[in-house]
Amino acid sequence: MINREWHAAHKLGRNASLDDRLAWHLDHAANCDCREMPLAIRREAEARGLPVPRLRRLQADTCPTAATWPPGTPPVRH
Ligand SMILES: [Zn+2]
Repeated sequence: MINREWHAAHKLGRNASLDDRLAWHLDHAANCDCREMPLAIRREAEARGLPVPRLRRLQADTCPTAATWPPGTPPVRH
């Protein structure tokens, strides 16, 4: 669901700096989920030790993989 009011109040210019983009996307993720945070932004935020919001679409109610994991069993990684 897009948060139109938030978007109207938070415009990100084409020549915005990386700092501006980081701040925009972190604020965006907290207020709106119309799009996912770009991987480059997410990595940059993690590299700076900033708290990166989880993708809402990966939560259990919408993610079939998460929903079928037995509780207490870690996901298998290869
Ligand atoms: Zn949005």
